[in-house]
Amino acid sequence: MKDSNFLKEKNARSLWHPMAHPADSLNNPPTIIAGASGVKITDVDGHEVVDAVGGLWNVNLGFSNQPIKDAIAAQLDTLPYYSTFRGTTNDKVIELSEILRDFFAPDGLTRAFYTSGGSDSVETALRLARQYHKVKGNTGRTKFLSLKKGYHGTHMGGASVNGNANFRTQYEPLLPGCYHIPAPYTYRNPFNETDPERLAQLCLQAMEDEIAFQGANTIAAMIMEPILGAGGVIPPHKSFMPGVREICSRHGILLIADEVITAFGRTGGWTGSRYWGVQPDFMCTAKAITNGYFPFGAVMIADHVVETFERDTTGAANIGHGYTYSGHPVGAAAAVACMAETQRLKVNKNAAARGAELFAGLQEIAAANDIVGDVRGGHGLMCALELVSDRATKAPIDKKAIGTLQEVAYQNGAMVRVSGPNVIMSPPLVLSSDDVQTILNALKAGFAAL
Ligand code: PMP
Repeated sequence: MKDSNFLKEKNARSLWHPMAHPADSLNNPPTIIAGASGVKITDVDGHEVVDAVGGLWNVNLGFSNQPIKDAIAAQLDTLPYYSTFRGTTNDKVIELSEILRDFFAPDGLTRAFYTSGGSDSVETALRLARQYHKVKGNTGRTKFLSLKKGYHGTHMGGASVNGNANFRTQYEPLLPGCYHIPAPYTYRNPFNETDPERLAQLCLQAMEDEIAFQGANTIAAMIMEPILGAGGVIPPHKSFMPGVREICSRHGILLIADEVITAFGRTGGWTGSRYWGVQPDFMCTAKAITNGYFPFGAVMIADHVVETFERDTTGAANIGHGYTYSGHPVGAAAAVACMAETQRLKVNKNAAARGAELFAGLQEIAAANDIVGDVRGGHGLMCALELVSDRATKAPIDKKAIGTLQEVAYQNGAMVRVSGPNVIMSPPLVLSSDDVQTILNALKAGFAAL
């Protein structure tokens, strides 16, 4: 077995980590993950835990999916790389596009544009949304709307529509023309409204007000997650996303569903948009499209956008955007196998059933622990506990305490994610009821240690 302290020292001296302070590598070194199997990960010291983070919301089918691994190996032997830039394509990317269109995307989203991950997918949708309006001659429609607390990746466009200051402030100035609407977040909102349905209406009214203020004919698109994920798992009332759809349609604004987390079964539906009964104009995916085994993403595009682009004879619809790895044959082969497995295992059904068990257990934990201010979930396998130091004032818990909770939970069998005051859970969708219990017991041990 490798000496973990030796590796941690070398780690600190040789790389920087995303979403971390560089000094933390020495002061609070990361756990070195050495292996994974099923829904469990093992660190370099041989400690094995249930991965309640599911990789990073992406390993929906667990770490041992052989058909996906075989598909990757076979594709490496056949065609390890070729581009899909104008002039060439490959059979796997064609097969995948038909599967995404026929089985996963909401009705009417009939073309796929491929990317290397979630941030790329968001960037693609933002850029194509602007281009759509230009192709139609509406050159003034360039602005974007999004939700506060929303997360849309790390490229400059995505960071600009991001609704969390942590991901913005140090990188400003960001893209001009991006405006944020209050999120339907019952625990904290500017209206002090705790009823989800009334709050949804207030947020929709705020969206209408912003559109009136900006002028509808200056706005290209609204981007939103069907259930906000990285912002702390914030499920809106069921009326919210249909309400956003209606407002967008009425004002000629495109709706971009950022489904980088919610697509492929996580919510209990095949996509978050379908779960809420909404047809977006663009749908961004990545992560679970290859079960996290290959960096890959796809943006699905609605028919009326497709027609606008494909009908153009002026050249305005020529797409001046794309990635070296757009439609990578190995990624596409991984995704074809992953989509087949996602359907075969009916992971959406298991996400709904295990998600309900996890949410019920978290509600019990919340009832027994005053430091839980809010517990969120109830829509598949994405749940969060928001911790406070005082329930009355809702003052967020201090960083050290939540760090202790995470550490003790890890020692007791579960890796959970901490983001600000939130403990976030997004385990693989192939989780068993026993695994749910392991996560809950590990959390209980964490709370007992505080
Ligand atoms: N959009 C959403 C909703 C996400 O959750 C994420 C990543 N967590 C991204 C975009 C960015 O994806 P990536 O990290 O693959 O670039």
